[in-house]
Amino acid sequence: MKVFKTERGKGKIKLFDMHVHTKGISLCSRLSAGDLCRALKEDQTDGFVLTNHYSPAHLRGSLGQWLKNYQEEYERTAEEAERWGLRALFGMEVTLGTRDFLLYGVTPECLYGSERPLWEYTLEELWEFAHEREALLVHAHPYRGGGVPADFRYLDGVEINCHPLYLQNAKEEVTAYAKEHRLFVTCGSDYHGDVYKAHCGVWLPDGLSGEKELAMFLKSGQPELLVHDIDPRRAEQTNIYNRNRRKDS
Ligand SMILES: [Zn+2]
Ligand SMILES: [Zn+2]
Repeated sequence: MKVFKTERGKGKIKLFDMHVHTKGISLCSRLSAGDLCRALKEDQTDGFVLTNHYSPAHLRGSLGQWLKNYQEEYERTAEEAERWGLRALFGMEVTLGTRDFLLYGVTPECLYGSERPLWEYTLEELWEFAHEREALLVHAHPYRGGGVPADFRYLDGVEINCHPLYLQNAKEEVTAYAKEHRLFVTCGSDYHGDVYKAHCGVWLPDGLSGEKELAMFLKSGQPELLVHDIDPRRAEQTNIYNRNRRKDS
């Protein structure tokens, strides 16, 4: 097995935002690929995993065409990232019922590997789908909205989600859950452009060859995280939904 060496402060590790959305697929996002890259560059993030929603709520047209669009949105975003000197990796955020799960280590080819859409899978089936492809399944924001985390037997990791819209990142609960069930913890901004961008992520070794090595690295032990503690005042001020409400009243 490949040994990963990370040496902080020596320019050999890179900060990756593990959870971001672009509007070409994620209908709740306000960000074009260029908007996303500008924001990440401005706060000195080195790379990101594009985790657009894979959910019936975001499906437009036929499934086959939509999956093609999903791949093309990633390719467009990756090209844009290269122009900004950022590294882009492919990922997915799959909705199962009321919960969301991030897949790391999947590649665009995985979009076409199933005979029915992944949102129809059970968690166990999705976990198997990931593992058959040497990918990992991470529970996105397990405590959002008073949520109860999914069955740990079918999880590899859990996420500290720093989306300021939700006013808290539940880092204590997530860390405790991970420790209890021997899961790793990731961190991402869930940036949609609807509120200020949280500066956060996972420190990854420089020169990862791609998604497969990302999964290998996450499997090799708990990575170092940059966690953002949400500023509720700033969240309130930058929340576009509040702004629209203020305009109406
Ligand atoms: Zn969204
Ligand atoms: Zn998300």
